[in-house]
Amino acid sequence: MGLFASEYEGKRVFHKTPAEIEIMRQANTLVSKTLAHVGTMLKAGVTGEMIDKAAEEFIRDHGGKPAFKGYHGFPSTLCVSYNDIVVHGIPGKREFKETDVVSVDCGVELEGFFGDAAYTFAFAGISEDVVDLLETTYASLYLGIEKAVHGNRIGDISFAIQDYCERKHGYSVVRDLVGHGIGRSLHEDPEVPNYGRRGKGFLMTEGLAIAIEPMINMGVKEVYQDSDGWTIHTRDRKPSAHYEHSVVVQKGKADILSDHTFLLEAIKNNAELQEILPKS
Ligand code: MG
Ligand code: MG
Repeated sequence: MGLFASEYEGKRVFHKTPAEIEIMRQANTLVSKTLAHVGTMLKAGVTGEMIDKAAEEFIRDHGGKPAFKGYHGFPSTLCVSYNDIVVHGIPGKREFKETDVVSVDCGVELEGFFGDAAYTFAFAGISEDVVDLLETTYASLYLGIEKAVHGNRIGDISFAIQDYCERKHGYSVVRDLVGHGIGRSLHEDPEVPNYGRRGKGFLMTEGLAIAIEPMINMGVKEVYQDSDGWTIHTRDRKPSAHYEHSVVVQKGKADILSDHTFLLEAIKNNAELQEILPKS
């Protein structure tokens, strides 16, 4: 789940101890395994409601609590955002099609700490230009993570993502929603925008936990909110992509707490999906 830009102001930033980071790693591992479970289920004809129910059972069976359910009244365990839906899609009765891209965003609370990660799944029938949007967005997530090191500023992450997606590849960064700090709350300070200037913004030091989540549109950057009060669509109804990891800032290299390898394995074993990897 992303954060509406400037929704969360004036809060303090809490750095995590090594013991807290290990609990967060467990919460994020449960998120990662839940996304993998969803990856085994995604087939044409399956609905958002079906994967949402399975995800909730999976999380509760493993001792966690769905973090999104009830968050500001959000009704579901997962955000399921297909095609022109950017983020915050409410799982419903629409059946997936073999030409869909589906961002699945999952949050878990475990022992008082939160995990948050997302992956945009691709059915086998999507067009090459949509594959390129997904691979570019996924690559930008890792370019952002490369900048999440002790002594850098949030703007270094923001710039890396924006420069790669907009200047190098001609896509658009959504401005209205941003990444965020994470820990004892799902959304903490600082905000982590996917656009910005190098060397600006909050100074990152070791133990800062943040969720980095580029939301990148094929067409215009503008979005609008559905009448359901949640679902965010692209204004031009062109496709959008979304990938997210929760990471901890460390010296030299960020520690990625969420692990996409589980879901990439699930995709390999699901003939209806194609594996999307970061563009090289
Ligand atoms: Mg999320
Ligand atoms: Mg998030």
